[in-house]
This record gives sequence, C-alpha cells and structure tokens, in this order.
Amino acid sequence: AMTVVVVGAGQAGVQTAASLRDNGYPGRVVLVGDEPGEPYQRPPLSKGYLEGTADAARLTLRGSSFFAKNDIDFLNTRVRRIDRDRKRVLTADGDELAYAHLVLATGSRNRALPVPGAALDGVFGLRTREDADVLRDRLGAAQHVVVIGGGFIGLEFAATAAKLGRSVTVVETVGRVLARVASPAVSAHYTDLHETHGNRILTGRTVTRLLGESSVTGVEVAGNGPDLVLPADLVVVGIGVIPNTELAADAGLAVDNGILVDECLSTSDSNVSAIGDCAAHSSPFASGPVRLESVQNAVDQARCVAAKLTGETAPYRSVPWFWSDQFHTKLQIAGLANGYDRTVVSGEPGAFSVFCFQGERLRAVESVNRPADHMAARRLFAAGTGLHPDDIDDGFELKRHLA
Ligand code: FAD
Repeated sequence: AMTVVVVGAGQAGVQTAASLRDNGYPGRVVLVGDEPGEPYQRPPLSKGYLEGTADAARLTLRGSSFFAKNDIDFLNTRVRRIDRDRKRVLTADGDELAYAHLVLATGSRNRALPVPGAALDGVFGLRTREDADVLRDRLGAAQHVVVIGGGFIGLEFAATAAKLGRSVTVVETVGRVLARVASPAVSAHYTDLHETHGNRILTGRTVTRLLGESSVTGVEVAGNGPDLVLPADLVVVGIGVIPNTELAADAGLAVDNGILVDECLSTSDSNVSAIGDCAAHSSPFASGPVRLESVQNAVDQARCVAAKLTGETAPYRSVPWFWSDQFHTKLQIAGLANGYDRTVVSGEPGAFSVFCFQGERLRAVESVNRPADHMAARRLFAAGTGLHPDDIDDGFELKRHLA
C-alpha cells in the first residue's frame, strides 16, 4: 500500500497521522519527530505547565499506545534530506523511507536575539518542553526577571511568573505590546493588566546588550528616554519565530517566509504537502500568503491534508482563530487582524470585543473575556455573513445580532 511519511511530530504532524487513520487510510503511516519523549502540545508551556498546575501527562498529544493501536510508526529521529526524484527521505539514523506522499510539518524555531551577551547563562527562549522545565526551575530562585519581546509568549510567561510571585519587566521595541497581532485597544488592556499585577512594561525600548561574565546580570536598554540597565538574573527572549524551511529549500521546493503551498496545501511538488507553522498559504482571510502560528491552523491544515489523501480534496478555508490566557483573562481572536483601518469596541472595560474593519469589511473580532462574541464571530466568518460597523451600538452582542 501507499506510504505517507510525516516529518515533524508536533501539533500538525500528530494530527495528520491521527486524521489519516480516522478517515480510514489503509496504507503505512510513518511519523518522524526529533524531539525527545512523547509528542506534546505547546500552549501550556507558557501557562499551566510553567505554573505547575498542569503536569507532563496533560501536555501529551498522543502517546505510544495510540500509535500502536492505530498502526502509526512513530520514529524518534530527524529527517536530514529529501530525495524527491526517488521519493525518499533520509533520517539521521541512516534509514531511507520511501513515500508516496510526504507531509512537512516541521514547525518553527525561536528567533535568536541579535545582541552581544545573548549566549550568557540565564538567557532562555520558550518553545520546547525542555525550555519550560528549565525556566520553571530557574524561576524559583530568580530575583530580577526580564522578558524581551511583548508578544504572546513573552506576556504569557510574564503573567505566569507574576502568579509565581516574581515581578517581571517586559521590554518591547515598538510603541505597544502585541503590536503585530492585536489592536491598540487590546494592547492597552494587557499593559494595564500586567501593571496591575506588578509587572513593568517598557515600550519603544530596544535591548542593545546583555551584561554579565558567564551568567547574565543586566539588560542594557536604549530608546524612549535615557539608556538604562535593568538588573537581571533571568532573561526570557520572545521575539518571534523562524519557520523551519531548510529541509524543503534544500530539496528545491518553493520557500518564502514559509514553505509555499497552494490552496490545497500542496507544495511546488504535488507529492509533498506542508502544514502548520512552517507553511505559507494563500487565505481567503488575507490578501497575500500568510504563515499562521496557531493550534487551530496546525490542526485544521492537518485535517485538510488527511482529507486530500483519502479522496476528499478541498481547499483550506478554515476560519483562523487563536487564544491567549493571562491572569484569568482570556483573549480570543477570530479572523486575521491585519489590513484593517477602523475598529469599533463594544462591551465594558474588563469584558469587551474589538471589531476590526477594512472599509466596511469585517476582518477580525478580538474578544477579551467575551467567549460568546468569539464563538459567534467564528460562525459569522464561516458563513461569510457581513457585519456593518453601524450595526455595533451600545450594548451590542454579536450572538443576539446573528440570532
Ligand atoms: P511544532 O509544534 O513546532 O512541531 C514541529 C515539530 O517538528 C517539532 O517537534 C520539531 O522539532 C520537529 N521537526 C522539525 N524539523 C524536523 C526534522 N527535520 N525531522 C524531524 N522532526 C522535525 N497557539 C495557540 O493557538 N494558542 C496558544 O495559546 C499558544 N500558546 C503557545 C505557547 C507557547 C510557549 C508556544 C511555543 C506556542 C504556542 N502556540 C499557541 C503556538 C502553537 O503551539 C504552534 O502554532 C503549533 O505548535 C504549531 O504546530 P506545528 O506542528 O506546525 O509545529
């Protein structure tokens, strides 16, 4: 029978293997992952797992018994090379695996901080289970914690650290936190939230150097006022990720900030698909190719590819959505908050939604502690129904509007 080889055993890769079996795929399914241990999900790494309220078992996506029961060959090794002419991949263990179809789900890795001192002890990223284990350990003794980057991962880490009794300084280069991913109203809410819990948020400030002999002792910061040195014995860098595209590029596949895929998630070689954090797709929710970093995107793209391989080819059209948990505050985003030129806010200070419009077209709905708005927004985007900015008045509730 035909073999599907999946490279990467993260959220997207594991879902591909599971969905192939759910759909009754009869051939061999090989899942290759290079991280130690059982495949796991990342979201708790900056939240409950870091805090200590969710244990390792809660991280596991699928364990060895699932793979055995579903006849999935899980290989704990790294794919080194793809030979597209011979339709084979070569692993670090020296094995050659023949494929009929290859799914690349290689994810992304942390962008390195491009300043002197970034390699000092006490400076960490947060992407893997191992990172979270080390950070949880170090947080216990840390006196001065600095987070570089006011994105989701930096802020979630800062929120968890504050819950554990550490006050954290977050340094963000641009003028507001979450600038790349959320509207100004949401950014302002999160700045307040962190400050209320004792964290300090510095915006418009760039880290120029990390100080210390072998371990980090300080963070040198420039911009927006006099230069300063923040004392630090623990530094977390969360300045974005780089998609793992080298394997694809070396095999001659088209790559441009992500492995380029068509609307059915095929790469420039129709025998190879790419999904999740590593893939750039054209989306009905955006004007150009997008590369999304979310569980929703990884899972739904995996299902789309599994359907294609079991005879149900359909373009990937899932509504993008995302969540972030900080201090018992839940942010949920439906749609893509880019390219909008106007926002309308409804709700109260602690529980509100931001409707982001491009002209009269709704592009995204950001909900802070308004889960009903979020669910309604996802239905609205899925149905392709519009919403006019003038529809949103005092006391507006999206759910009632749709009813
Ligand atoms: P990954 O999960 O990165 O998996 C890719 C895997 O492939 C990795 O294990 C990698 O080691 C492996 N690999 C790469 N190359 C090879 C190779 N050549 N051979 C073998 N294996 C290889 N998203 C949300 O929607 N909500 C959240 O709240 C949220 N919180 C997050 C918190 C943290 C701390 C992090 C790091 C991410 C969070 N995300 C969240 C993002 C989400 O986890 C990612 O978008 C998702 O994991 C992407 O899945 P993926 O399978 O594409 O990539």
